[in-house]
Amino acid sequence: MSEIEIRNLHVSVDGKEILKGVNLTVKQGDVHALMGPNGTGKSTLAYTLMGHPFYEVTEGEVWFKSHNILELEPDERSHLGLFLAFQYPVAIPGVTVANFLRTAINAKRRYFAPDDKGISIPEFRRVLKEKMDLLKMDHNFAGRYLNEGFSGGEKKRAEVLQMAALQPEIAVMDETDSGLDIDALRVVSEGVNTLRGPSLGVLVITHYQRILNYIKPDFVHIMLDGRIVETGGADLALHLEEHGYDWVREKNEPALV
Ligand code: ADP
Ligand code: MG
Repeated sequence: MSEIEIRNLHVSVDGKEILKGVNLTVKQGDVHALMGPNGTGKSTLAYTLMGHPFYEVTEGEVWFKSHNILELEPDERSHLGLFLAFQYPVAIPGVTVANFLRTAINAKRRYFAPDDKGISIPEFRRVLKEKMDLLKMDHNFAGRYLNEGFSGGEKKRAEVLQMAALQPEIAVMDETDSGLDIDALRVVSEGVNTLRGPSLGVLVITHYQRILNYIKPDFVHIMLDGRIVETGGADLALHLEEHGYDWVREKNEPALV
């Protein structure tokens, strides 16, 4: 059973400390929600986990399968079984969804076995069809250029399909706080619920409570000013929905309120 363990993570952007000692463990099989007001460092955490060069780690470690992944390249982190669903996925004109997925699957296979010939076309077709059926997707989707002209919901669907095809052990989903309509939210949620199971751990990052009406988390964490200041069960999200974040601020920054 693998897990990702974030220990005392400090991250700076442009010399300004954004994450100020984050501790969090996500185990395979569990769904965690990370919530918090805008600008508290949630996306910074997601990008740091995947190794975005912009974010400077000044202290701390992130352990996953006996590696401090902060020392690994983003593609190595991915091959090990970590997945980040982007808040704003980029379009890749000329590359179909199917091609993209096959390339990603083959890159992972070659990472573990350099002589691997890659997944055969019939086998890939079978896997792709199986995953698209699982996610109730139209098969035409596979032939479209990745994210080009996709609606918000389709982009999310493409992210979830990648997740289904790559079968990560830990997925970090940085949910957008704006611009996602209720249908797109439902797409992500249904996808996560379909893929949910003992071999997948998920960290759903969200500003809004409403996605948690669809994905029932096992644990909820609240981030404030670069730290996780509250942890609880699904009821913590319901409490937030009713009372907002003010009580969290009052409790943690009494001098500022
Ligand atoms: P959240 O996802 O919780 O809304 P972010 O991690 O996006 O918060 O941002 C936390 C802080 O880090 C903000 O003050 C933001 O301005 C700063 N920050 C994050 N990424 C960048 C960036 N690429 N350039 C400049 N500032 C950034
Ligand atoms: Mg964010």
